[in-house]
Amino acid sequence: MSGGRRRGTASPALPLAPARARLRVLLPLPLAGAYDYGVPAGMVPPPPGSFVQVPLSGREMIGVVWDGEADPDLPERKLRDITHLLDVPPMTASLRKFVDWVAAYTVSPPGAVLRMAMSSPSALEPPMAKAGWRASAAGRAALARGTGLTGARQRVLETLEGELDGEAHLAATIAQRAGVSSGVLRGMADAGLLEPALIERAVEFPRPDLKRGGPELGEEQRVAGQALREAVAKKQFGVTLLSGVTGSGKTEVYLEAVAECLAQGRQALVLLPEIALSAQWLERFEARFGCQPALWHSELGSKRRRDTWRALAEGRVQALVGARSALFLPFPDLGLIVVDEEHETAFKQEEGVVYHARDMAVVRARLNEAACVLVSATPSLETLTNAETGRYAALDLPVRHGGATLPSVVAIDQRVTPPERGRFLSPPLVQAIRDAIGRGEQAMLFLNRRGYAPLTLCRTCGHRMRCPNCTAWLVEHRIQKRLQCHHCGHAEPIPPACPECGAEGSLTPLGPGVERVQEEAAELFPDARRLVMASDTLPGPAAAAEAARAIQAREVDLIIGTQIVAKGWHFPHLTLVGVVDADLGLAGGDLRAAERTVQLLHQVAGRAGRAEAPGQVLLQSWNPDHPVMQALISGDLAGFMAAEADQRRPGHWPPFGRLAALIVSAEDEREADTIARDLGIEAPGGDGVEVLGPAPAPLSMLRGRHRRRLLIKVRRDVPVQPILREWLSRVRVPASVKVQVDVDPVSFL
Ligand code: ADP
Ligand code: ZN
Repeated sequence: MSGGRRRGTASPALPLAPARARLRVLLPLPLAGAYDYGVPAGMVPPPPGSFVQVPLSGREMIGVVWDGEADPDLPERKLRDITHLLDVPPMTASLRKFVDWVAAYTVSPPGAVLRMAMSSPSALEPPMAKAGWRASAAGRAALARGTGLTGARQRVLETLEGELDGEAHLAATIAQRAGVSSGVLRGMADAGLLEPALIERAVEFPRPDLKRGGPELGEEQRVAGQALREAVAKKQFGVTLLSGVTGSGKTEVYLEAVAECLAQGRQALVLLPEIALSAQWLERFEARFGCQPALWHSELGSKRRRDTWRALAEGRVQALVGARSALFLPFPDLGLIVVDEEHETAFKQEEGVVYHARDMAVVRARLNEAACVLVSATPSLETLTNAETGRYAALDLPVRHGGATLPSVVAIDQRVTPPERGRFLSPPLVQAIRDAIGRGEQAMLFLNRRGYAPLTLCRTCGHRMRCPNCTAWLVEHRIQKRLQCHHCGHAEPIPPACPECGAEGSLTPLGPGVERVQEEAAELFPDARRLVMASDTLPGPAAAAEAARAIQAREVDLIIGTQIVAKGWHFPHLTLVGVVDADLGLAGGDLRAAERTVQLLHQVAGRAGRAEAPGQVLLQSWNPDHPVMQALISGDLAGFMAAEADQRRPGHWPPFGRLAALIVSAEDEREADTIARDLGIEAPGGDGVEVLGPAPAPLSMLRGRHRRRLLIKVRRDVPVQPILREWLSRVRVPASVKVQVDVDPVSFL
């Protein structure tokens, strides 16, 4: 077709070479749009979605045949050919649209998004087949006759046809299983009793068993489960908010939707904010479906990654649970996406392509005609607003399963009953812990701060130990005897003398982290079995699973933890939760500080009192009258969120308007300032558009780069992406300066 146009304009006197078919190939590179390539003679033009290998400036790369017409005017001699077509199921049209959609929404190059959808490059290579042996027709016949075989040969054939399922295996495996030497196998091959064959290495994923059924649901659970089943059965796009108090059985209810989806023969995806902390969730899935789901997260080994990606693309995986990156996997027929703990900020990816997995899950569901279920005991204001306006359906489970009651929440006024000097646990909290442990119940202390102390100060000169690369104090980690930066990972030994004034033994820790609370607890409750739960004391899924097991088995009396204790755990013997510093999250004062603090503390509180014994939650606060504390005490989260909405609505703050941030960073401070200033000069304006900044970011230096921020706020009806693209196109940015775009920012650091 393109050739026709060229012929029309070319001189008719020239003999024409037959034009090659041409097509667009998107490569997983952050700077590229789709490039045009030719289809070599003898190759049928591969349809959009095909994975192809192409040359690119002297090397070979794998990309995807993209939608749209190649440029017919690109001269024939400039057009390179596709090298070959890969034997992988093509990327579906819906996933290609998703890649384009995410790129457009986040103002990122499509190639950068494609890269996330090709996150296991080795999965694109043909599965490696190894040479093995199996019984030949003559061998099987000899076995059937049952005569004329030596005992060793007989055993080999029996083993191959029996426990080895008649398939090809490595010679070593066969010899070992049959208990013969490799010489026997060689002899059998020479005699034609064995034949060589390739061993297929496709890894099998177990099929969830749909006949098992789940626990008997309570009435409200049943109604909600049925509604979700119907939403899935429609095979249409729709979003449902499943809210419900902590311990109401939301997981059991949405597993109904998963079961329905699998029964339809479509795939189900469940996104969890921190998959490494999900041992209990996996147990639940296994109890319901008789097998583990496929997993997808950053700690997956590369072989498992490849096998999972490939099996999924080939439709051999029915249910997958994963972190946010699982959204970009090649599901052939996705019927359901569940986003559990949808309010969690862990769903926001802050580096590279900056996107919110909860929001993009809704988009992917729409492009797949799939159902989407957003689950939380403390839904975000964004989701609540969508439910209120009717864009999302809403289901609610108002009571805990099995008659358990919600815990009572009380503030301990730190002005009235403060901890002793140099201590962090106030007398009423200490007494409550003593009582709970005395009754044989478990208690938990929550402080959202890793390490021993957040600040180290010289008592002589006032010098504070700070990170050389970041605008941040160094955090003491006493167990490792180090000071650490929680932003860049910088670590140094604790110096014996102040680096500023040289005073010896003058450096003092200021304020508590969980390690320091554990130290205090060890003095106060020396006989209690204590467990610290923080990301650095529980590295990885196995450690977290073991901690959960020990707690459930009552091998622990007192848990001391950071935000990881807030994550969906079900600890039936835990009755007391003490929040060491309930005011902590309010300090930063960003847009969602209050909302986030309520969500986090409510989730922590929700760990208490899940079985017969009622739970109690004590909030240590210097400001117990604060609306956040009052909301937690009264349990009226709906009222709190309504008040939050009333505050944000008039100024068009999200979700009633849209924000996007530009973060300018450079190693050279002046360069960062120059570009930030240029962006400020070129700032867009007009009806419903407002630009704030440039201003130094709160983290004005991060990993050695100086950072400046600009924030654009637009009315809900104004699309922000075209404005951003136009704005960025007006400022020339040198390679040494980075401008990161963050649409719908969650972090303002
Ligand atoms: P949520 O996610 O709402 O906090 P969960 O789904 O974790 O609640 O449920 C809390 C606990 O109650 C879990 O141990 C779960 O297995 C159990 N549970 C919930 N519903 C039922 C039910 N209908 N039958 C038996 N156990 C249930
Ligand atoms: Zn740092």
